[in-house]
Amino acid sequence: MVTMEINASKRTKAYQVWPGKNVFFFHGRLVCGPDPRGLLLTSISILVSTWIFTIYIADDLQNTNSTVVITICSILTLMVIVNLILVTAIDPGIIPRSTEQQSSVEDVGSSSKKVTVNGVQLKLKYCRICRIFRPPRSCHCAVCDNCVENFDHHCPWIGQCIALRNYRFYLAFLITALVFFVYIFGFSCRRIGVRLSESGVGLFGMLRSFPETLALTLFSFSAIWFLGCLAIFHSYLTAINQTAYENFRNRYEGSPNPYDKGIISNIKEVLFAPLPPSRVDFRAEVMPRWDMEDHEMPPHWLSI
Ligand SMILES: [Zn+2]
Ligand SMILES: [Zn+2]
Repeated sequence: MVTMEINASKRTKAYQVWPGKNVFFFHGRLVCGPDPRGLLLTSISILVSTWIFTIYIADDLQNTNSTVVITICSILTLMVIVNLILVTAIDPGIIPRSTEQQSSVEDVGSSSKKVTVNGVQLKLKYCRICRIFRPPRSCHCAVCDNCVENFDHHCPWIGQCIALRNYRFYLAFLITALVFFVYIFGFSCRRIGVRLSESGVGLFGMLRSFPETLALTLFSFSAIWFLGCLAIFHSYLTAINQTAYENFRNRYEGSPNPYDKGIISNIKEVLFAPLPPSRVDFRAEVMPRWDMEDHEMPPHWLSI
């Protein structure tokens, strides 16, 4: 009985031997990108902004109920953080590598294949790392070292691929973060205006007396520009049903986009269609004698 329990605890799970560069948490339940620095910086920026706003600005607003102002700020912070966690921690649409031990491009015979999507012929490229013909719209992310479905881009500020399964949360993150910084910027400007008119010390006097308010105003102004441009660009891409990767590479120049079904249908498809399940079960058991040095996929690493 004891031996069986020890063996069970030693069983290898797919996430423990995953050949991509992802980092897993909670025994493979959370699938993150390999570099957390951008995510840490983004999270700290949001939390420090909330802290400065709550301590220095919201408490010093005349003729305004500071409790209501702080409560709304806290709700916005929570919404931004929840969306950030969803974008970061769910499988973005990783495509499993080939389980065929010897499938090289020589075995396949050609490095490209053609498929027809809604009457438009598309070329499928062969990925030498994953040893698969990539489905249409997918791409191999060099940072995460995986082929990913509907690859949009790898976001360094979130540290994760933005693709089929987390795109809608990315857009929700952009919009909630934009509203959050507009809110902070509005009240920060108001505090600066009130203090300037009261004391008449000028901007340099303000810098000495209220450096945190000026710093937060400048930071939130920059964040509004950055997030605003991204939100507009991605809303446009959603309306025409293109990924940023396709847009930058002019994928549909000279040929129609077979995925474009009109603005309303595109928005419905990109944002509201049911999310497909993950193609990989990272918690599935894999063959115990798989040779990790070999970098070949174990035959039974996928869940059934
Ligand atoms: Zn690949
Ligand atoms: Zn990536």
